[in-house]
Amino acid sequence: MSTLSQLHEEITLCTRCELSKYRTKAVPGEGSENAEIMFVGEAPGWHEDQQGRPFVGPAGQFLELLIGSIGLRREQVFITNVIKSRPPGNRDPLPAEILACRHWLGRQIELICPKIIVTLGRYAMAMFFPGKSIGKIHGTAQRRDNIIYYAMYHPAAALHQQSLRRTIEEDMLKIPSLLAQAKSITEAKQSPQQLSMFEV
Ligand code: URA
Repeated sequence: MSTLSQLHEEITLCTRCELSKYRTKAVPGEGSENAEIMFVGEAPGWHEDQQGRPFVGPAGQFLELLIGSIGLRREQVFITNVIKSRPPGNRDPLPAEILACRHWLGRQIELICPKIIVTLGRYAMAMFFPGKSIGKIHGTAQRRDNIIYYAMYHPAAALHQQSLRRTIEEDMLKIPSLLAQAKSITEAKQSPQQLSMFEV
Protein backbone atom coordinates (compact mmCIF):
# COMPACT_ATOMS: atom_id res chain seq x y z
CA MET A 1 0.00 0.00 0.00
CA SER A 2 1.42 3.44 -0.92
CA THR A 3 2.05 6.13 1.67
CA LEU A 4 -0.81 8.19 0.23
CA SER A 5 -3.20 5.23 0.49
CA GLN A 6 -2.06 4.73 4.10
CA LEU A 7 -2.76 8.38 4.81
CA HIS A 8 -6.22 8.03 3.27
CA GLU A 9 -6.84 4.98 5.41
CA GLU A 10 -6.03 7.09 8.48
CA ILE A 11 -8.39 9.83 7.29
CA THR A 12 -11.21 7.30 6.93
CA LEU A 13 -10.77 6.40 10.60
CA CYS A 14 -10.40 10.00 11.83
CA THR A 15 -12.49 11.09 14.81
CA ARG A 16 -10.79 14.45 15.44
CA CYS A 17 -14.10 16.31 15.21
CA GLU A 18 -17.82 15.72 15.65
CA LEU A 19 -18.38 15.37 11.91
CA SER A 20 -17.13 11.80 12.16
CA LYS A 21 -20.37 10.92 14.01
CA TYR A 22 -22.59 12.04 11.15
CA ARG A 23 -20.74 11.01 8.01
CA THR A 24 -21.59 7.97 5.89
CA LYS A 25 -18.09 7.86 4.43
CA ALA A 26 -15.06 10.08 4.91
CA VAL A 27 -13.84 11.66 1.68
CA PRO A 28 -10.02 11.87 1.76
CA GLY A 29 -9.56 12.89 -1.88
CA GLU A 30 -8.44 11.12 -5.05
CA GLY A 31 -6.26 11.39 -8.11
CA SER A 32 -2.67 10.96 -9.13
CA GLU A 33 0.02 10.68 -6.46
CA ASN A 34 2.26 12.54 -8.91
CA ALA A 35 -0.26 15.25 -9.71
CA GLU A 36 1.18 18.62 -10.62
CA ILE A 37 -2.15 20.30 -9.93
CA MET A 38 -4.14 19.89 -6.71
CA PHE A 39 -7.72 21.21 -6.51
CA VAL A 40 -8.99 21.97 -3.01
CA GLY A 41 -12.73 22.40 -2.50
CA GLU A 42 -14.76 23.07 0.63
CA ALA A 43 -16.35 19.92 2.04
CA PRO A 44 -18.06 16.77 0.76
CA GLY A 45 -21.75 17.12 -0.08
CA TRP A 46 -24.44 14.43 -0.09
CA HIS A 47 -23.16 12.56 -3.17
CA GLU A 48 -19.56 12.61 -1.94
CA ASP A 49 -20.59 11.40 1.53
CA GLN A 50 -22.42 8.45 -0.04
CA GLN A 51 -19.54 7.43 -2.32
CA GLY A 52 -16.47 8.47 -0.29
CA ARG A 53 -15.19 10.35 -3.37
CA PRO A 54 -14.73 14.09 -3.87
CA PHE A 55 -16.67 16.17 -6.40
CA VAL A 56 -18.96 13.46 -7.80
CA GLY A 57 -22.21 15.50 -7.75
CA PRO A 58 -23.32 18.35 -10.05
CA ALA A 59 -20.43 20.65 -9.01
CA GLY A 60 -18.08 17.75 -9.73
CA GLN A 61 -19.49 17.31 -13.22
CA PHE A 62 -18.72 20.94 -13.96
CA LEU A 63 -15.25 20.59 -12.40
CA GLU A 64 -14.56 17.64 -14.72
CA LEU A 65 -15.58 19.75 -17.73
CA LEU A 66 -13.26 22.50 -16.54
CA ILE A 67 -10.38 20.06 -16.09
CA GLY A 68 -11.13 18.72 -19.59
CA SER A 69 -10.96 22.27 -20.97
CA ILE A 70 -7.23 22.33 -20.11
CA GLY A 71 -6.64 18.95 -21.73
CA LEU A 72 -6.59 16.83 -18.57
CA ARG A 73 -8.69 14.09 -16.99
CA ARG A 74 -9.58 14.01 -13.30
CA GLU A 75 -7.27 11.02 -12.71
CA GLN A 76 -4.30 13.18 -13.78
CA VAL A 77 -4.84 15.81 -11.08
CA PHE A 78 -5.52 15.48 -7.36
CA ILE A 79 -8.89 16.56 -5.97
CA THR A 80 -9.62 17.03 -2.30
CA ASN A 81 -11.35 19.31 0.21
CA VAL A 82 -10.51 21.41 3.25
CA ILE A 83 -12.88 19.21 5.30
CA LYS A 84 -12.88 15.45 4.77
CA SER A 85 -16.33 14.67 6.25
CA ARG A 86 -19.71 16.11 5.24
CA PRO A 87 -21.17 18.74 7.57
CA PRO A 88 -24.80 17.76 8.34
CA GLY A 89 -27.27 19.32 5.92
CA ASN A 90 -24.33 20.72 3.93
CA ARG A 91 -23.91 23.57 6.42
CA ASP A 92 -20.72 25.64 6.28
CA PRO A 93 -17.76 24.07 8.08
CA LEU A 94 -17.07 25.47 11.57
CA PRO A 95 -13.68 27.01 12.43
CA ALA A 96 -12.97 24.16 14.90
CA GLU A 97 -13.70 21.57 12.19
CA ILE A 98 -11.38 23.31 9.74
CA LEU A 99 -8.67 23.42 12.39
CA ALA A 100 -9.10 19.74 13.26
CA CYS A 101 -8.92 18.72 9.59
CA ARG A 102 -6.13 20.94 8.24
CA HIS A 103 -3.45 18.48 9.32
CA TRP A 104 -4.71 16.02 6.68
CA LEU A 105 -4.52 18.50 3.84
CA GLY A 106 -1.03 19.47 4.99
CA ARG A 107 0.10 15.84 4.80
CA GLN A 108 -1.47 15.36 1.37
CA ILE A 109 0.44 18.41 0.11
CA GLU A 110 3.70 17.09 1.59
CA LEU A 111 3.26 13.70 -0.08
CA ILE A 112 2.02 14.84 -3.48
CA CYS A 113 4.20 17.98 -3.80
CA PRO A 114 1.92 19.65 -6.34
CA LYS A 115 3.30 22.52 -8.42
CA ILE A 116 -0.03 24.37 -8.27
CA ILE A 117 -2.72 24.38 -5.61
CA VAL A 118 -6.03 25.64 -6.97
CA THR A 119 -8.41 26.79 -4.25
CA LEU A 120 -12.09 26.38 -5.14
CA GLY A 121 -14.31 28.80 -3.25
CA ARG A 122 -14.05 30.82 -0.06
CA TYR A 123 -13.05 28.18 2.48
CA ALA A 124 -10.08 26.83 0.56
CA MET A 125 -9.09 30.38 -0.38
CA ALA A 126 -9.17 31.46 3.28
CA MET A 127 -6.69 28.71 4.12
CA PHE A 128 -4.04 29.90 1.66
CA PHE A 129 -4.95 33.57 1.10
CA PRO A 130 -6.11 34.67 4.58
CA GLY A 131 -8.05 37.93 4.74
CA LYS A 132 -8.62 38.12 0.96
CA SER A 133 -11.92 38.30 -0.87
CA ILE A 134 -12.76 35.79 -3.61
CA GLY A 135 -14.37 38.52 -5.76
CA LYS A 136 -11.03 40.35 -5.81
CA ILE A 137 -8.45 37.58 -6.07
CA HIS A 138 -10.09 34.91 -8.24
CA GLY A 139 -7.94 34.31 -11.31
CA THR A 140 -4.77 35.49 -9.53
CA ALA A 141 -1.79 33.50 -8.26
CA GLN A 142 0.86 33.78 -5.57
CA ARG A 143 4.08 31.80 -5.38
CA ARG A 144 5.35 30.64 -1.98
CA ASP A 145 7.93 27.95 -1.22
CA ASN A 146 7.94 26.58 -4.76
CA ILE A 147 4.16 26.16 -4.91
CA ILE A 148 1.89 28.41 -6.93
CA TYR A 149 -1.42 29.07 -5.16
CA TYR A 150 -4.27 30.01 -7.50
CA ALA A 151 -7.70 31.14 -6.36
CA MET A 152 -10.90 30.32 -8.23
CA TYR A 153 -14.61 30.51 -7.51
CA HIS A 154 -16.18 27.23 -6.43
CA PRO A 155 -17.67 25.36 -9.45
CA ALA A 156 -21.01 25.22 -7.60
CA ALA A 157 -21.14 29.03 -7.81
CA ALA A 158 -21.75 28.68 -11.57
CA LEU A 159 -24.71 26.37 -10.87
CA HIS A 160 -26.35 28.97 -8.61
CA GLN A 161 -25.26 32.05 -10.56
CA GLN A 162 -25.07 31.48 -14.30
CA SER A 163 -23.19 34.75 -14.85
CA LEU A 164 -20.13 33.32 -13.03
CA ARG A 165 -19.78 30.38 -15.40
CA ARG A 166 -17.79 32.32 -18.00
CA THR A 167 -15.49 33.80 -15.31
CA ILE A 168 -14.79 30.35 -13.89
CA GLU A 169 -14.11 28.93 -17.36
CA GLU A 170 -11.73 31.80 -18.14
CA ASP A 171 -9.91 31.47 -14.82
CA MET A 172 -9.41 27.76 -15.47
CA LEU A 173 -7.82 28.45 -18.84
CA LYS A 174 -4.99 30.38 -17.13
CA ILE A 175 -3.77 27.24 -15.35
CA PRO A 176 -1.64 25.74 -18.19
CA SER A 177 0.53 28.86 -18.44
CA LEU A 178 0.89 28.96 -14.64
CA LEU A 179 2.00 25.35 -14.75
CA ALA A 180 4.55 26.12 -17.45
CA GLN A 181 5.85 28.95 -15.25
CA ALA A 182 6.00 26.65 -12.22
CA LYS A 183 8.02 24.13 -14.24
CA SER A 184 10.47 26.70 -15.51
CA ILE A 185 11.03 27.88 -11.93
CA THR A 186 11.79 24.30 -10.85
CA GLU A 187 14.18 23.81 -13.78
CA ALA A 188 15.90 27.11 -13.05
CA LYS A 189 16.40 26.04 -9.45
CA GLN A 190 18.14 22.93 -10.77
CA SER A 191 20.53 24.93 -12.98
CA PRO A 192 21.76 27.88 -10.88
CA GLN A 193 23.10 29.93 -13.80
CA GLN A 194 19.51 30.49 -15.00
CA LEU A 195 18.10 31.35 -11.59
CA SER A 196 18.00 35.11 -11.99
CA MET A 197 15.69 34.80 -15.02
CA PHE A 198 12.93 33.25 -12.93
CA GLU A 199 13.34 34.58 -9.41
CA VAL A 200 10.44 36.87 -8.51
N1 URA B 1 -18.28 20.68 -3.08
C1 URA B 1 -17.05 20.65 -2.51
O1 URA B 1 -16.51 21.67 -2.07
N2 URA B 1 -16.43 19.47 -2.45
C2 URA B 1 -16.94 18.36 -2.93
O2 URA B 1 -16.28 17.31 -2.84
C3 URA B 1 -18.21 18.42 -3.52
C4 URA B 1 -18.86 19.59 -3.59
